[in-house]
Amino acid sequence: MKQAIFFISVSLIIMSSCTIQKKQADLIVHNAKVYTVDDAFAIQQAFAVKDGKFVAVGTDKAILGNYDSENIIDADGKSVYPGFIDAHCHFYGYGCNLLKRADLVGTKSFEEVVERLKEHYQKNPSEWIEGRGWDQNDWEIKDFPTKELLDEAFPDNPVYLTRIDGHAAVANSVALKRAGITAETKIAGGDVFVSNGEPTGILIDNAMDLISDIIPQSNEEFDRNALMAAEKNCFPVGLTSIHDAGLSKETVDLIDIMHKEGSLKMRIYAMLSPSENNLNSYVKNGPYTTERLTVQSIKLFADGALGSRGAKMIEPYSDDPDNSGLFMHEPDYYKNICAKAIEHNFQVNTHAIGDEANRFILNLYAEYLNGINDRRWRIEHAQIIHLDDFKLFGEYSIIPSVQPTHATSDMYWAEDRVGAERIEGAYAYQQLLDQNDWLPLGTDFPVENINPLYTFYAAIARKDLKGWPEEGFQINNALSREDALRGMTIWAAKAAFEEDVKGSIEAGKFADFVILDEDIMISEIEIVPNVKVIATFSGGEQVFKSE
Ligand SMILES: [Zn+2]
Repeated sequence: MKQAIFFISVSLIIMSSCTIQKKQADLIVHNAKVYTVDDAFAIQQAFAVKDGKFVAVGTDKAILGNYDSENIIDADGKSVYPGFIDAHCHFYGYGCNLLKRADLVGTKSFEEVVERLKEHYQKNPSEWIEGRGWDQNDWEIKDFPTKELLDEAFPDNPVYLTRIDGHAAVANSVALKRAGITAETKIAGGDVFVSNGEPTGILIDNAMDLISDIIPQSNEEFDRNALMAAEKNCFPVGLTSIHDAGLSKETVDLIDIMHKEGSLKMRIYAMLSPSENNLNSYVKNGPYTTERLTVQSIKLFADGALGSRGAKMIEPYSDDPDNSGLFMHEPDYYKNICAKAIEHNFQVNTHAIGDEANRFILNLYAEYLNGINDRRWRIEHAQIIHLDDFKLFGEYSIIPSVQPTHATSDMYWAEDRVGAERIEGAYAYQQLLDQNDWLPLGTDFPVENINPLYTFYAAIARKDLKGWPEEGFQINNALSREDALRGMTIWAAKAAFEEDVKGSIEAGKFADFVILDEDIMISEIEIVPNVKVIATFSGGEQVFKSE
């Protein structure tokens, strides 16, 4: 069996009669096709690991000739890549979902949502009933749902269900009442939908906080379990580092503790939510770095999302002529935080979807960045860019941080929202890459699947998992395989100021790598989403191995 060769065996290689003293390594991998993702994109055969880092990368002859180890892996010619990095996700939130929220992804109607909730409630009875992942665009009736069916099924419990993008929610009457939401409720940067003089149950963006703020807080034990549950699913898909887009000081502190005690191994680039507590602690103290944690950025929201028409557009929506979306905050709010970030050497990473939101943030950043620079301030998603504005990314070294599976999830309805002209500047990944010549890639999970191979496939094929559309969605903006791999490794590391310690297989870097069953750089692109991870290593330690 092919798999059998991967178990780590005690080396029987005995030093030959020659007198070369071999150096001792903790691990050697050889007979591999190693995509180093170094500057030259060199392919090698072998490497040695010592104290959690690569110490040498080269030919089989060079590595086996110079190093010895009790752990030698013959990779049987399989392809090896730097550990994958997700440059934008919600790792902790995903873990929370796994533990307590009903999974509503893929529901085909609101009736099915209610059925899934009932099943969830039977298995996990709790006062608050939470769910996440519904998307009315997947339903036959594509209108937002309303509270009535929820009231019927759950007359006594508060129910709160967030949309797939996290930018809209539907609540039942009990939840609305507890939050004090009425038809008169007005909230800046948010919306409470009203019909016939009462709230329909739909809350957009900042209005969602009225309910999420009153849901009982989790405790430390829950948070620990959530982080471990997320990690348990992420290692098997080859992720060894993630950027979490929006964490509190408490969660970051807990991650740091868990890293130090060894109960959590995922390397985490923590983007801080802009709370007073975060600003007065981590931000004030300046960047914080350990081997597994970096805290050096603030996550902001400029606008909402396209699916819920909260994305801020220059002109109104093509399918909703009275609506052009919303900004989450006043300009001064963003200015204050940008000034603090400059003062304390922090990066600013702002969610911007609509063309007006992107234009606003590009121009705002420009005021602080003064031309070409190395602050690496990012725009998360950079989803719809006015054709005149692309150049600002390059002129001010502003880094777009994009999620290729968003393109293939939204392609069915995105043009309805923005029309034939504006769609040209949407999900324009190659055009964005051209601005700075590097582009970090992520998924935004749990908005999308956690699997980085879906990202790779979507970036290159620009098709859904069923192979639609045949010619690819706006295929002129497809990335090359080499660039897609860089986006998931070295460029994602660079987006976190970590390119000197991770993101490629080079001597001196953390020995984070993944062995795949197929070579995704040359295989048919259609098979990539189903390629199996054979093993994942973090700091030279095997953290996942396929059965
Ligand atoms: Zn996000």
